[in-house]
Amino acid sequence: RRRAALARATGPGATSDGHRVPLLANIGGPADVPAAVAAGAEGVGLFRTELLFLSGGERPPAVEEQARVYREVLAAFPEGRVVVRMLDAGADKPLDFLGSGAAEPNPALGVRGLRALLARPEVLADQLAALGEAAAGLPVHLEVMAPMVADRADAAAFAAACRAAGLGAARGAMVEIPAAALRARALLQEVDFLSVGTNDLAQYAFAADRQLGAVARWQDPWQPALLDLVALAAEAAGAEGRSCGICGEAAADPALACVLTGLGATSLSMGAAAIPRVRATLAKHTLAQCRRAAAAARAADGAGAARAAAQAVLSGE
Ligand code: PEP
Ligand code: MG
Repeated sequence: RRRAALARATGPGATSDGHRVPLLANIGGPADVPAAVAAGAEGVGLFRTELLFLSGGERPPAVEEQARVYREVLAAFPEGRVVVRMLDAGADKPLDFLGSGAAEPNPALGVRGLRALLARPEVLADQLAALGEAAAGLPVHLEVMAPMVADRADAAAFAAACRAAGLGAARGAMVEIPAAALRARALLQEVDFLSVGTNDLAQYAFAADRQLGAVARWQDPWQPALLDLVALAAEAAGAEGRSCGICGEAAADPALACVLTGLGATSLSMGAAAIPRVRATLAKHTLAQCRRAAAAARAADGAGAARAAAQAVLSGE
């Protein structure tokens, strides 16, 4: 019995009836890797690459410099998955060399994420080339994804850039814009997988700046409308036989992690510190219970009621 308890404390993520939900880490670079490994992360679900670009100032880091940093991360998860998010500049993360954000009246709605990369295709090409170089000869399962994909044309442009770079890695689109959730199935005609970024998805669904305290209540990931959008993406992926991970802050809340599993999320990525509690909570509930909790949360009015309704189901009331 002690061995079973230990497996639940350190092993792969799964519901009590054995439905696998890989638990992955959100990282910002090699410095975050030891904590992810210590928490038993099965890989990386979101490698935010902005940090690497913030240090450079006037120009992006050279391909060799990028490759060195990426390799350090990839080497730490020999058999695992590492999902690298392409540079997500603009709005809250302005970068001088992209000229992003500065002159825009509404940076969160402007040239950010994939839009900035498509405006400077050489920056995206270099990043993809560096990843190809970094992954060479390693057994790791590398995946790449684009931030702020709005429509099928965006997904197609990203897939074309990956093809042009000759990168064999699986390609994904982040679902952070409500339009992308509504048309998730169309995105999957162009890319291999989806990953929901609940932070931006909440910001855009509720028209509430994620950096503004005065509108913080709409950033609550228990909002039923946000869960509806997640469900759209997860159901579309399920129908296409593809994966749909969650990599926003929502996945770090143990009860919400069960709800997201019930909605059809195929993996959960979070800050390493949250992994042990999410693993333990998931292991206490069946997939059917997670689905009932998800249905109860979606049927509720407001975030507080959704949380209470899901928790009632999960505690067997
Ligand atoms: C998100 O928007 O939920 C996300 C994971 O990306 P970031 O927080 O880096 O914008
Ligand atoms: Mg985001």
